[in-house]
Amino acid sequence: MTPRRSLTKDMKAIGGRGWLVLSLPLTLFMTIWIFAVGATTAYTDPFHYSVEASVATSESAIVFADVRTEKRVVAMTFDDGPDPRWTPSILDALIESGSTATFFVIGRNVTANPAITRDLAASGMEIANHTQDHVDFHDANLPEQLDQIRNCSRSIKEVGVEEADYFRPPKGVLPFGSVQAFRQEGRPTVLWDVSVERRDESDDEIVERVLASVHPGSIILAHDGGIPNRAKTVRVIPRILKGLSALGYEVVSVSELLDTE
Ligand SMILES: [Zn+2]
Repeated sequence: MTPRRSLTKDMKAIGGRGWLVLSLPLTLFMTIWIFAVGATTAYTDPFHYSVEASVATSESAIVFADVRTEKRVVAMTFDDGPDPRWTPSILDALIESGSTATFFVIGRNVTANPAITRDLAASGMEIANHTQDHVDFHDANLPEQLDQIRNCSRSIKEVGVEEADYFRPPKGVLPFGSVQAFRQEGRPTVLWDVSVERRDESDDEIVERVLASVHPGSIILAHDGGIPNRAKTVRVIPRILKGLSALGYEVVSVSELLDTE
């Protein structure tokens, strides 16, 4: 008869590595706990905002990468523009397919391209904050991060366009200590769960992967600015929009996704 081994014995058996084995789930638990603190009961986990559970208001949201919904609705988002080389073509594709999207703009690009920014807004697209200079938040302290957000906000206002509450940090970098401060500024952080651009993929592979990855409530990330050049994005976006429509998906902005019932 083999006696049941206790966890302590197993821990001894694997030596120091036992702490690693235990610390990984513990870290995950702490991550979830820290994100959940200060959130309303609408939160069931840190990265999924439940539309059903509560009213979709920005005050209750901290960070989300998709939305829970049964409806075949996804949000399309474009970062790093506006850019005169790519943004107008992407806007045309959105208009042609009857879709809307959220553009997470860089403040200095807004100042350089006021007419394009106004065109986006006038065409029913949502304009949201992606910082003034696309600073990596690993390299900025909290006051600098908040300045980046506020300055982008001012740039958007200066061209006469209304800004959504949402904020997306450059490269998705979200320092732990900043999350609550962004929330206190009334800035829920919008990440994504499906990303369009992959350097190693062909156009066909991108379209196929994106269409296979989306689910109701997905937030899709693409870029209408930044480096490298976005010719590939401009080519695949009309195909992705067509494919989503064929799958029965409505493509909307982040606000419209949150308003989905
Ligand atoms: Zn960016």
